[in-house]
Amino acid sequence: MDPILSARNIRKRYGAFLALKDVTFDLPRGERHALIGPNGAGKSTFIACVAGQLPGVEGKMIFRGEDITALTPASLAKKGIGRTFQISRAFLQMTVMENIMAAVVIASGRWTSLSRGLYRDNLEKAFGLLETVKLDDRAAARVADLSLGDRKRLEFGMALAGDPELLLLDEPTAGMSIKERHYLMEMVATRMEETGKTLLFVEHDIDVVMKIAQRVTVMARGAVLVVGTPAEIAANEEVQAIYLGG
Ligand code: ADP
Ligand code: MG
Repeated sequence: MDPILSARNIRKRYGAFLALKDVTFDLPRGERHALIGPNGAGKSTFIACVAGQLPGVEGKMIFRGEDITALTPASLAKKGIGRTFQISRAFLQMTVMENIMAAVVIASGRWTSLSRGLYRDNLEKAFGLLETVKLDDRAAARVADLSLGDRKRLEFGMALAGDPELLLLDEPTAGMSIKERHYLMEMVATRMEETGKTLLFVEHDIDVVMKIAQRVTVMARGAVLVVGTPAEIAANEEVQAIYLGG
């Protein structure tokens, strides 16, 4: 296995509470990997640890052979770790195109000077991303007027602006209809497949997990319970006990 990400004995405390208890995890390059488990299992905490968003993380995080344990979200983004962000209130009044352009300009790292050529390149890239997430016909719409599904696809497109090698998605389909969930995640999977990038996603909908993930990690109470293919996970008695036994 050629892991793009290796987490070694990751520990995270919130005050006296140990939310991650020595999580060790390897993610092969190019894999679509789902993180599942009951509420409070530590899934979001783990994703935030990988993205460098939490202070005081113990253990070691290796990305593409490099120790990234103490790096900031900004430098992790430069190294190729991307995640989606909820579009903030100020940006809701702006158009779809303005939002995706902002993401492209920020990801380019060249925002202190602007030439006609650079602007054209950014615009070209922005339109390409809107096509990828099937929002090119909504380019002029205000984000506030988008459906939840459209908005989530825009957030996905914005996360792609930096061409991340590893994309982190924490419950991207929350609040969506079953149809929208599958539409979004099939789009994400196709994009990952076509570009050879790696995906780590948290997902509640087990049908989506079964369809999209190549392997699954089940977490419970801050620890990894099992790792396996969707079929292995579905057949695992411990997993069944957690999901059926509450
Ligand atoms: P999941 O995403 O699997 O539902 P989380 O990572 O959000 O789980 O939370 C794991 C545990 O850590 C939960 O018990 C939660 O209450 C606790 N927790 C999460 N964030 C904080 C925080 N900022 N302060 C204190 N406890 C937290
Ligand atoms: Mg969570």
